[in-house]
Amino acid sequence: MNVESTLAELVRIDTRSAASNAGLINYVLPRVEAAGLRARILRYTDERGVEKSQLVAVSQKDFEEGDEVALALVGHTDTVPFDPAWTEALTLTERDGKLYGRGACDTKGFIAAALAAIEEADVRRLSRPLALVLTADEEVGCLGAKRLAESKPFSARAAVVGEPTSLRPMRAGKGYCLADVTVRGREGHSAYPHLGASAITRAARLVGRIEKIAEGLKRDAHEAFDPPHTTVNVGVISGGTAKNVIAGRCDFTLEWRPVPGQSPEIVADLVRREIEALRAEDEGFECELRVTRLDAGVETRADAPLVRALEEETGNAAGTVAFGTEAPQLAELGADAVVFGPGDIRVAHRTGEFVPAAELRDCAQILRRTVERFCGPEHQ
Ligand SMILES: [Zn+2]
Repeated sequence: MNVESTLAELVRIDTRSAASNAGLINYVLPRVEAAGLRARILRYTDERGVEKSQLVAVSQKDFEEGDEVALALVGHTDTVPFDPAWTEALTLTERDGKLYGRGACDTKGFIAAALAAIEEADVRRLSRPLALVLTADEEVGCLGAKRLAESKPFSARAAVVGEPTSLRPMRAGKGYCLADVTVRGREGHSAYPHLGASAITRAARLVGRIEKIAEGLKRDAHEAFDPPHTTVNVGVISGGTAKNVIAGRCDFTLEWRPVPGQSPEIVADLVRREIEALRAEDEGFECELRVTRLDAGVETRADAPLVRALEEETGNAAGTVAFGTEAPQLAELGADAVVFGPGDIRVAHRTGEFVPAAELRDCAQILRRTVERFCGPEHQ
């Protein structure tokens, strides 16, 4: 089956993160087995009680739990939701050399290319183990990959993490961290400000200090990125109940994207220090900061074999990505991780996302040659 028809089959299976992805895993399973891989399905139940499946398929017959593979091709099976008005979301549609459908770009295009590469490579002749790894729940926080990083069903020397990069190898990525902040005040009639304490005014003081923290983080530069430093965002804020009531509570979200090499806790620690300082000035200053996500940045050396190989195969110099990927979890599994795949991240998550058909076919060929370089017989 060619790579476009494989993609059409994958797009047809609805794998929005909220639904089970078992249909897609069950579709891929007989194909990878027929290609000569030995597959294991790792199941778990997500926090809403939906069953999720992850596939780890390895070329080596005597492969044991925790053994190292020479190369892992890693794709996430889940997609973001789609607008019901997009009636062709699950029907791959070609127009002007572009293949449209939910997940075509992010990241079923990569999975279709990886399957084609595995079916074309003569897996039984490979001398070093190759793995195909299909994960769940990437779009909702890389939850499936985090389970793999914890349970370690395999380790990997190198890993291609499928994401739309327009076939440019991406060797580093910023981390992704979130916290919820609650500032408390004392409610009262707004005509008598001295009888209350506004949580909104207190939160505003703290947000002003967060802005200074963000300014200070610019000094810790990592030139491979644009912008070349850790960024901070207060994306949502809400507080108060009425125009004539002194606000008793104000909540905001704090998001930061740390550059690799920097502790992911850095912003939370700096903000906590400012909370203490504000408390010293205003003894009623009551504030809680709850960290809900703490993913560190990741960086693979510019001279790592997989970075070099993909640069040679594509003719594209390695770059960096600003969006979250499963690369940190693959790094935890020991891999030099490179983010790579067909399609452009700027059209992902949109109604009408697409992958260029030519890039999809090129990706399958590049992955096949990469498999042969990393896992093939020594003399070809
Ligand atoms: Zn993705």
